[in-house]
Amino acid sequence: MYSLAIHGGAGARPRAPLSAERERAYHRGLAQALSAGEAILANAGCALDAVEAAVTVLEDDPLFNAGRGAVLTRDGTVELDAAIMDGKNLRAGAVAAIKHVRNPVQLARRVLEDGGHVFLVADGAEQFAEAVGFVPVANDYFITPYRQQQLAALSRQHELSALDEPPFGTVGAVARDSAGQLAAATSTGGMTGKRPGRVGDSPVIGAGTYADNHTCAVSTTGHGEWFLRTLQAYDIAARMRYAGATLSEAVSEAIEQRLPRLGASGGLIAVDHRGEIELRYNTPAMFRASVRSGAPASIHIY
Ligand code: ASP
Repeated sequence: MYSLAIHGGAGARPRAPLSAERERAYHRGLAQALSAGEAILANAGCALDAVEAAVTVLEDDPLFNAGRGAVLTRDGTVELDAAIMDGKNLRAGAVAAIKHVRNPVQLARRVLEDGGHVFLVADGAEQFAEAVGFVPVANDYFITPYRQQQLAALSRQHELSALDEPPFGTVGAVARDSAGQLAAATSTGGMTGKRPGRVGDSPVIGAGTYADNHTCAVSTTGHGEWFLRTLQAYDIAARMRYAGATLSEAVSEAIEQRLPRLGASGGLIAVDHRGEIELRYNTPAMFRASVRSGAPASIHIY
């Protein structure tokens, strides 16, 4: 029995409702990512490969805030963060503030496999990427006209340092494979108009990404500073481990109590060791999809 869930970010409802065409495009993107991950799980593949495959598809899709189509820094460049974690042995790989690696989640996976370190950033991460055979891409590859318009609109409002509602975007996946192994991956461009060098929760193990076979796998999205301060992904696992909470109880506490009390908005996806899935958010919407073996997939935005 396997379970897989993905997200394409949680955030405020866009000022204008999504057009039917754009909504269909988001559905298509989520469906493609879900089936890339499910194809691996259905063939007895491992959870780690499934989350990497699903996130890779979302990174390549310009609609989402990860890889191509990621949001821009206040300087108009793209800086990407990603992490991946294997719940079997707590091995993890993460990269941050990278500008030339097409699929950051794949680089995070190489960091995990390499094993010497967990977290590489900026130039050092790019050097590692080249050393292990990643072909660098120009930063322009990631930049889309839509994100340029978004940054321009934000600059006009002089809100660069006051963003508290992240736009839709960051992507993630959590899975339980048929052998009972859990894994999580998250990838993002961060928040529109962020300061160059700013790193959010997504690539920080325990904040935006966490997996432990004994408890759960979690990938978060939302106002990263708060998810960093609360070590949100690990907090869910810790509630299960130390307080004996179920996944649903642990996630409810986070989304309905703790984060709102702090004024933090966002969401998360999680799967536990029994394959139970949670997709929860306290924002108006979260792009999300999930599937379990033998059941139809579900894909939702609002
Ligand atoms: N959590 C991400 C960050 O703060 C943004 C998001 O999920 O939209 O970098």
